[in-house]
Amino acid sequence: MNGLINFDKFDFTNGLDGKYNEFITEKLILTPLYKKIKDMPKSILTSFPIDNTKIELYCDECKKRRIYTFATTGINYYYLESSPNFFNNTSVLYSKLMNENEYFYFIAKADCGHNLIILFKIIDENTIMKVGQSPSIYDMNEEINNKSFLKELGKEYASYYKKACSLNSFNSNIGAMTYLRRIFEKLLLDCFEQNQDELEITKDDFKRLKMEDKLNKLKEFLPSIIFDNGYNQVYSKVSNGIHNLSEDECGQLFIPLRMAIEEILIEKLELKEKKDRQEKLGKELQKI
Ligand SMILES: [Zn+2]
Repeated sequence: MNGLINFDKFDFTNGLDGKYNEFITEKLILTPLYKKIKDMPKSILTSFPIDNTKIELYCDECKKRRIYTFATTGINYYYLESSPNFFNNTSVLYSKLMNENEYFYFIAKADCGHNLIILFKIIDENTIMKVGQSPSIYDMNEEINNKSFLKELGKEYASYYKKACSLNSFNSNIGAMTYLRRIFEKLLLDCFEQNQDELEITKDDFKRLKMEDKLNKLKEFLPSIIFDNGYNQVYSKVSNGIHNLSEDECGQLFIPLRMAIEEILIEKLELKEKKDRQEKLGKELQKI
């Protein structure tokens, strides 16, 4: 017996077609890790194994929605490895489910061939918690991943953006704002570096400025919409420390700050596209 999960060993095709499983939903896939999922009716838990349940989910590798088929796996893969018939015995399964501190997992394969694995921990007889998932909830979120301006952020900061949006959608706003603030500070620094020659300030001095003062310095290089009425208040609150703000206060600041970030990125993207178009036109004209 080894601990490796070999996707090739599972059958993702021969099952009862159209079988509906109430437990596995897109919402579950997008639920953050370590959040207690309460009031899990035992009846749903006992409906394992899940026999080729099919649902449509977003695949970030293909950048589109795919049909994922869940393999019949289960409560504890050590049992699966040692006794393949374990899952035919519902009463054993049921008693196993009532034990605290047990784990179970699901694997699925999409029609494009990409995989999904989710690991759960049983907290008590009515509560479970997702403790692992690959691809992450951020990568499984279609709405977040389809934004074209994300590529302007680079891989690391794009992942911060996705985390921020996902945390916000689950009302974890202090965490969400921490990521957004990092992105915003990075964009301000990028803007400084691009226009350094025209700004009469050193990088170190710029870094030491308060957020509002950085913005004032960069005003002519940033979209004017992010200086509209009300934004000063947003920047001063964010700058004075997210750690002093409540979840609700962070929730109120989230959308304006996210929109400021998006405006900067969209403008960058548009400028790049305009430059590309002009270069292409220049080349065409040279041919004449
Ligand atoms: Zn795929």
